[in-house]
Amino acid sequence: MVDIDILGVNINASDRASAEKQTDEALCHRSGYAVFTPNSCMIGKCLRDEKLKSVINSAELRIPDGAGVAVASRILYGNGAISERVTGIELAETVLKRAAEKNLRVFFYGASPYVAKRAAEQMSERIGGLCICGYADGYGSEAEVVKKIADSGADIVFVCLGFPKQEMWILQNRDKLLNVRLFMALGGTFDVWSGKVRRAGKVMCKMGLEWLWRITADGFSSVGTRKKYKDVRYLVRFSNAVLSKKLKNMVGDISHFVQMKYVHFILTNMGQI
Ligand code: UDP
Repeated sequence: MVDIDILGVNINASDRASAEKQTDEALCHRSGYAVFTPNSCMIGKCLRDEKLKSVINSAELRIPDGAGVAVASRILYGNGAISERVTGIELAETVLKRAAEKNLRVFFYGASPYVAKRAAEQMSERIGGLCICGYADGYGSEAEVVKKIADSGADIVFVCLGFPKQEMWILQNRDKLLNVRLFMALGGTFDVWSGKVRRAGKVMCKMGLEWLWRITADGFSSVGTRKKYKDVRYLVRFSNAVLSKKLKNMVGDISHFVQMKYVHFILTNMGQI
């Protein structure tokens, strides 16, 4: 797998098929394989924090969860680098289907108590044969959750605590949960599966405008307003950094070209002396 460097965050799945292949293989071993889902906001947040970057880069699989990441790869490296975005929520649903086929047990950790329970019920109804062996909300004791997961015999753990809490939790606890094959950090996925939050429509997703939906979906008067404001700031920071990196590369290329021309000019003239 080739790493695609997006402002210091290394994406290592260029399309959905390669991401699914990696998770399928991970389900065959008890190795605590971690899947993180960097999007533009997350990378924007990492720009002034090297520790956060290395947290994301510690996962075995880092998928481009966001149209902005795919667009940035095109701006920086041309068309082939990341051919499509791979959303965590869709990859997670594929993993649940595989779990049902292979009789693997899944644990849901995160979100508010009602949401975690409702998401587990909804997905069990939607995917025949799926075994959700337990769930825990994201606001209780972390030590108790680790014990609950170990006792449940989970093979797969989905963690929805928001970035970077969920990523750090996985990295800090996977050594205590040696029977788990796969961990996925999935942000607001349980909110969507439970029906608490609606995902953007297909057209908006296709146009790469899911971020706009998330920011405007339930107005600006709710408790989430401060987070939305911060998300917009991180998005702007991300876009500026991508464009300034592109500009720097271009200036570098132009100055290299001018230098080569200059050397060529000198050599040609020396030849005439
Ligand atoms: N959450 C949680 N515990 C916490 C903080 C957040 O369970 O201490 C949950 C929250 O209820 C929500 C999810 O984590 O369901 C965060 O979703 P969001 O889309 O905001 O994720 P982010 O954009 O931060 O990755």
